Amino acid sequence: MKRVYPKEEVCMACRLCEIACIVEHSEYKDIFWAFRSEKPRQLPKTKVEELGPLSFSANCRHCKEPACIEACITGALYRTDEEHPVLIDKDRCVACWMCIMACPYGSINRDERNGTRHSTKCDLCPDKEIPACVKACPNRALIYEER
Ligand code: SF4
Ligand code: SF4
Repeated sequence: MKRVYPKEEVCMACRLCEIACIVEHSEYKDIFWAFRSEKPRQLPKTKVEELGPLSFSANCRHCKEPACIEACITGALYRTDEEHPVLIDKDRCVACWMCIMACPYGSINRDERNGTRHSTKCDLCPDKEIPACVKACPNRALIYEER
């Protein structure tokens, strides 16, 4: 399956990937409404990490043997088969954060908006042919391909 891979040597830490992710997962998929009206605002499912001059967008790799699924005590993290993305059923998540500790890529985040508590992660934008973060990156620092 195709996955999103970062190229840290050309990432500028502009965070447009995070913005595109927020918009894509918002109710109206519109930047104005996503940032000014939707409450609470969506969280980005990818996060740009910076260390000195280096930066990269920490996307889920939808691993062949996902440590997050292995670590999840309730079955909230799942995938139908190896050709499909690793997803989360937030209603089954009990916010133990084991998946966050297990993920070697730092690709799962806490969602504690509006008093709810569950993990959140990349779903590879099911409504799009190319994930929104990849399309938004102005410097081709995110590659969507099969390796
Ligand atoms: S949009 Fe591209 S260049 Fe900008 S922070 Fe994200 S990965 Fe880096
Ligand atoms: S969340 Fe982490 S462990 Fe789970 S599939 Fe994605 S990269 Fe792999």
